[in-house]
Amino acid sequence: MGNCSRDYAIEKIAEYSEKLQSIEQFRQPEEYGKYVFNEAAIKQYLPKKVADKLLATIRDRQPLDPSIADDVANAMKEWAISLGATHFTHWFQPLTGGTAEKHDAFLDISPTGEALMTFSGKNLIKGEPDASSLPSGGLRCTFEARGYTAWDPTSPAFIRRHQNGATLCIPTIFCSYTGDVLDKKTPLLRSISALEKSVKRLMKAFGCGEEAVCVTLGAEQEYFLVDRNFYLHRPDLVQTGRTLFGSAPPRHQQLEDHYFGSIRPRILAFMTDLDQELWRLGIPAKTRHNEVAPAQFEVAPIFEELNLAVDHNMLTMDVLRRVALRHGMVCLLHEKPFAGINGSGKHNNWALSYGGRNLLEPGDDPQQNAVFLTVLTAIIRAVDLHSDILRASTVSAGNKHRLGGNEAPPSIISIFLGEQLTAILEQIGQKTSEGGPMNQKQEVIRLGGEVLPLLPKDSTDRNRTSPFAFTGNKFEFRACGSSQSCAGFNMTMNTIVAESLDFISEQLEKLSPGDSESFHSGLEDILARILHDHKRIVFNGNNYSPEWVEEAKKRGLPILQKSMDALRTLLKEENQELFERYGVFTHTELSSRFEVFLEEYHSRIRIEGGIALEMAQNIILPIILREYDSALSILTRMKTAGLTEGAEGTRSVAAELGSLVDELTRACKDLEEALGKQHEDILENMRIVRAIVDRAEKVVSDDAWPLPKYREMLFIYN
Ligand code: ADP
Ligand code: MG
Repeated sequence: MGNCSRDYAIEKIAEYSEKLQSIEQFRQPEEYGKYVFNEAAIKQYLPKKVADKLLATIRDRQPLDPSIADDVANAMKEWAISLGATHFTHWFQPLTGGTAEKHDAFLDISPTGEALMTFSGKNLIKGEPDASSLPSGGLRCTFEARGYTAWDPTSPAFIRRHQNGATLCIPTIFCSYTGDVLDKKTPLLRSISALEKSVKRLMKAFGCGEEAVCVTLGAEQEYFLVDRNFYLHRPDLVQTGRTLFGSAPPRHQQLEDHYFGSIRPRILAFMTDLDQELWRLGIPAKTRHNEVAPAQFEVAPIFEELNLAVDHNMLTMDVLRRVALRHGMVCLLHEKPFAGINGSGKHNNWALSYGGRNLLEPGDDPQQNAVFLTVLTAIIRAVDLHSDILRASTVSAGNKHRLGGNEAPPSIISIFLGEQLTAILEQIGQKTSEGGPMNQKQEVIRLGGEVLPLLPKDSTDRNRTSPFAFTGNKFEFRACGSSQSCAGFNMTMNTIVAESLDFISEQLEKLSPGDSESFHSGLEDILARILHDHKRIVFNGNNYSPEWVEEAKKRGLPILQKSMDALRTLLKEENQELFERYGVFTHTELSSRFEVFLEEYHSRIRIEGGIALEMAQNIILPIILREYDSALSILTRMKTAGLTEGAEGTRSVAAELGSLVDELTRACKDLEEALGKQHEDILENMRIVRAIVDRAEKVVSDDAWPLPKYREMLFIYN
C-alpha cells in the first residue's frame, strides 16, 4: 500500500466490524409517530372540544377556527417541550427544491426580566421570514422582500431531534406579500382541491352520493451510500453531489448480484436506524433493499394521502442524509452520482380513492368497473394530451444524465397497461373505429351489461421500461429523479386528470344514471371515442429499444429529448391556460417558476463546469506532470548508466503522459472559455476534459492517483 489519502480512507473503513449489540427493542407500535403532533397527542394535550375542532380541520379540510389557535399553539408547545424542543420553525418548500427553516426560540422575556416559554396562535398560523434570498423568478423584488409562511394544518407538526436538542417543525405554505406562490406545496394543494372537485362531479354524474376524495402517493426513494472518508476526498461529490471524473471499474453491475442481494451489516445497521427514525416521525417506511448498482439502495413507504406523502418524502431525504452521517457515510441523492452505472430515480405511485375505495382498482360489480374504466380512460386522455408537461416535471440538471439511458424511461412519455387491460380497452375503442354500431354477434364487452368480465385484479405483467405503468391498482410514474420533490409531477398529474374527468363528466351529465341501460351505452360511446383518439399513448413494448423512438415518431408523440425543450412547454399558452383554469398557477406564477427552473438548471451546470476545471487543473494536471517528470528522470538516469533496457517502455509511458499534459491543458482552456457560454457548451467541454482525466487515471500509478476510485467508493464500504 502506498501512502495516499485513499489508503488512509481504506484503512479507516477496514476498522469497521459488526459488533452485535443487545437490541434495544423499538417499541412498535407505541413509538411510532412519537415525534408527531398526531391525533393521540392532540387528544392528550387539548380539551376535547378544541381537539374535535382541530381534528375536523385536519380530517375534513375545514378552515381553522381562529378562536382555537392560541389553545392549539400552547398545546403544541407543551408537547414539544416535553420532547426536548427549545425552538420552533415554519418548515416550507421553496423553489430551491429542498426545504427551508428559520428557527425561533420559544423564549420571551417578561417585563421583570424573567425568561418565559411562549408560542402564540399567531406564531403558529403565520410567519414572515425575510425571504429575499430565496428564488422567486422575479415575483418579488428584493426591496419587497417579505414572504409569508402559513400553517398547513393537514400535515401534522413534528419534532426534529439533533444531537443535543430538538425543534418543533410546522409544515407551511410560502407565498409573497402579493399572494403569489413561492413554493411547491401551494400548487400541490391547489391541484388536489381541483382534482377532488372533478372526481366528485364525475361520481355525481354516475349517480353516486358525495364522499371524500383522497389522492394517494407512495414514493419509492433510491439512493447511494459512500463512505465519508472517500467523499471528503472528492471535491466534485462535495460540491455537486456527483462524480465529474472516474470510470466504471471492470466489475460494476454486470453480475447483477447487488439487486435484492443480501444486505451488508454496516448498511443494514444504517437502514435499521433510518427506519426507526422515520417511524418516530410517523413516516411508514415499509420496504428496504439493495438496488441494481453497487452501493445503491431503496426505501419505500406505505402510501399516504398525497400532501402528507410529499412532505414525508422531503423529510425522508433529509433523514437519509443525517442518519448516513451518523454511520460514517454520505447519502447521495443525485440522479447520476457515477457514470456508467445506474442512476437513482423516484417512482411515484399515484392513485385516487372515493369514500375509501380505490378508483383504480378494478371492481367486483359492473358499476365499479364502469367507474374504473372511466377513470382509466380519463387518465389515458390526460397523459396523451399533456405528456409534454409531465415530461417537463422531470427536468433537472441531475435527471438529464439518467433519463433515456438504458436504466430509466426515455423522454417519450407513454403508458403501459399490460395485455389484458389493453385488450379490454381496445374492444371498447373498436366501437367507433369500426364505424357504425357494434355488431351484436361480436364478442364484446358491454359496460354495465352482464357480459362485462371480471377485470384483472392483479395484473402480473410488469414492464420496467415504461415511464408510466399501470400496476394493478395504481399508476407508477418512473421518470422523476431521486432528488426531485414529488410535488412537480403530482400537481401536474392532478391537474390534467381533473381536466379529463371534467371533459367526460360534461358529456355524462347529459345522460340519466337512473336509466342504466342507456346510461351505460352512452358512457361506452364516450369512452370509445376517447380511446380511439388517444390510444397512441399506450405502449406495452420495450421503451428502451431504438425502434420505439421510430414508432413514437410515427404516432406523433412528443419527443422532448432536451431538458430545455421540455421545460419550455410550460410557457405554451394552452398549458398556462390549463393551470390557470384549474386554479393551480396564474400565468405569472407559472412563468416565474419557469425562470427559477431555468436559472437553477444553468447554475448547477456552471458550478459543475467550474469545479471540473479546478480539479483538472489543480489536482489532476500536477499529478500527471509529476509522473511525467519521474519518467523523464528515469530516462536520463538510464542514459547515465548506459542502459537501454526499459528505454522503449519508459519512453512510451512518458510520451503518453506528455500528450495527456498537452490535451488536458488545451481542454481546460476550452472549458474555461465555455464557462461563459451556454450550458450545452459547458457540458460538451466537461465531457472532453473528463475523457482525458479518465484516461490519465488508467496511466498514472495507482498510489499517486489523488481521487478515490469508482471501484473503491462503490465496493469498499465494509
Ligand atoms: P415495486 O418496487 O414493485 O414498484 P414497491 O412495493 O417497492 O413496489 O412500491 C410500491 C409502492 O406503491 C409502495 O409505496 C406502495 O405503498 C404504493 N402503493 C400501493 N397502493 C397504492 C395506492 N393505492 N396509491 C398510491 N400508492 C400505492
Ligand atoms: Mg420498487
